[in-house]
Amino acid sequence: MDQRTWEQVERQLAEMASELERLLASPEATTLRDMLAKVSRTMPRHHSASLNCVVEIFDSQREKTLPVLTIGMGVSELGEVYSASSDLTPHRYIVNGEIEVVPEDRCPKCLDEWGFKWICPQCPHCDAQLGVNCWMLLDSDKCPNCEDGTVSAKDPHCNQCGFFIDPKFVRWG
Ligand SMILES: [Zn+2]
Ligand SMILES: [Zn+2]
Repeated sequence: MDQRTWEQVERQLAEMASELERLLASPEATTLRDMLAKVSRTMPRHHSASLNCVVEIFDSQREKTLPVLTIGMGVSELGEVYSASSDLTPHRYIVNGEIEVVPEDRCPKCLDEWGFKWICPQCPHCDAQLGVNCWMLLDSDKCPNCEDGTVSAKDPHCNQCGFFIDPKFVRWG
């Protein structure tokens, strides 16, 4: 989605995340947690159950669905229910001269799955190719690989994870 839309929707999604976390940890959800634990207990050890609420955004022009938020719970091997959430870090790209924001495992052009872009710089579903017609946009020095360390145009090696940001794949904002 375009950057403006993403900026508008980002805070709302964060609010939904905390509300979902609150709901799933509340007394009203106790029965649900017990039921989930029971399902896991009923199955052999190597199976486990999880329950997830997924917020998805559907793009009718490209006919693709982007999961932007997952909040839920799983069951440990000891049968304890734990909360699990993931909000895929959105990454920004430049495609067709526009800034496009998508979850990190998606293609900014066709929205289909495209993981490990640094290793596989060509989208498996369309002609998008990092460094050719698609660039990751970095406007902070936060490492896009580990999100902890810092990288810069001058020093493209992350000081935390050691990851090398190939300068031909990125544009610095
Ligand atoms: Zn693609
Ligand atoms: Zn890093």
